[in-house]
Amino acid sequence: MKILVLNCGSSSIKYQLLDMETESVLAIGKVERVGMEDAIFEYKGSGEKIKEIGTILDHTAGVRKVLKALTDPAHGVIKAPEEIAAVGHRVVHGGEAFVQSVIIDDEVKRTLRDLFDLAPLHNPANLTGILAAEAALPHAPGVAVFDTAFHATMPRKAFLYALPYVMYKRHKVRRYGFHGTSHKYVSQRAAAMLGRPLEEVNIITCHLGNGSSVAAVQGGKSVDTSMGFTPLAGLIMGTRSGDLDPGVIPYIMAREEIGISEVNSMLNKHSGMLGISGISSDMRQIEEEMEKGDQRAIETFEMMEYRLRKYIGAYTAALGRVDAIVFTGGIGENSPIFRKAVCENLGFLGVTFDEEANNCRGEEKIISGPDSKVAVMVIPTNEELMIARETAELVAAAK
Ligand code: ADP
Repeated sequence: MKILVLNCGSSSIKYQLLDMETESVLAIGKVERVGMEDAIFEYKGSGEKIKEIGTILDHTAGVRKVLKALTDPAHGVIKAPEEIAAVGHRVVHGGEAFVQSVIIDDEVKRTLRDLFDLAPLHNPANLTGILAAEAALPHAPGVAVFDTAFHATMPRKAFLYALPYVMYKRHKVRRYGFHGTSHKYVSQRAAAMLGRPLEEVNIITCHLGNGSSVAAVQGGKSVDTSMGFTPLAGLIMGTRSGDLDPGVIPYIMAREEIGISEVNSMLNKHSGMLGISGISSDMRQIEEEMEKGDQRAIETFEMMEYRLRKYIGAYTAALGRVDAIVFTGGIGENSPIFRKAVCENLGFLGVTFDEEANNCRGEEKIISGPDSKVAVMVIPTNEELMIARETAELVAAAK
């Protein structure tokens, strides 16, 4: 069975075609600047990587271009679009309506529209992608896989905010959590690497990318996570503040005489690593400046490590016992010095550290010492594979 995985933003389409017999990637690429005359189309199939610049006026045209490349006699990987059995869509927000992946029908699309308010930047783009795939591949069922769904198992004491209860009843203001597909994938891999059933292990998964979140996963179920109602809460991220005293927000709005959109932009785009360091939202640049002795870069790094360490401590208390800590995402997979800084401070958990094993990037590895009470692992995430698996499962079950 071949599954096309789509991750659509407002002006972008990231795609992969996977063969589920071997779980291998047949083709991968992206379309950027959708809606423009100088849209960028990238494709890597059976031959060299292709990059073209030209007009792609909407997502449907983008998906059709992807299909043309996939079936191209020279560099294609399938003979006809009909070989694509189903399309898996990454959808950011499932709200309380979607607690697991679903086959898309008219009712699902209606509910997705109702959820636009919860993720105004992402969900409309995700729906656009769904409609584009339906137009270009009318034979292929679509499946929506939600970033929030894995965290639907959080208990009420973890997901409710201590606001007037009516805010939850009336506006569904609660913690939802994000990056669920990644936390789910790496927790399954971690159990496999430990050689233990997922149901028996407690894992803290740290997804550290441009956006970052930690999850406490008990027996394969998320019981807490650091992102909340929006992906702004929790860890210090590339440009997002993470946790903050909510009282700071009206104070700044009053002192700076700024409105909702400016304060939103400050918290989402000008804070985090970029905001504190004044250097960059990219960990590689922070590391470079640290090496040169830049004090703000050093302080930024220390703040990020400290915030993550506090979450690991909190989630240890939430879980009662921790069997494994997983690092994933761009920083988690590729920054030995960040992992080292975190692990060196986890002595209270009985963590010992294997310096040599830690010297790796982008591969599955246990980086704790043989005598460590908690296994520490690097596991490259694979959200596309997880989406393809769930899509294949649902479509097969529906037959
Ligand atoms: P996104 O959340 O957008 O998917 P990624 O998971 O790709 O982002 O993570 C991006 C982050 O990973 C950036 O902060 C980047 O600096 C960091 N990163 C990527 N490669 C390295 C590396 N070799 N060393 C340190 N940090 C890295």
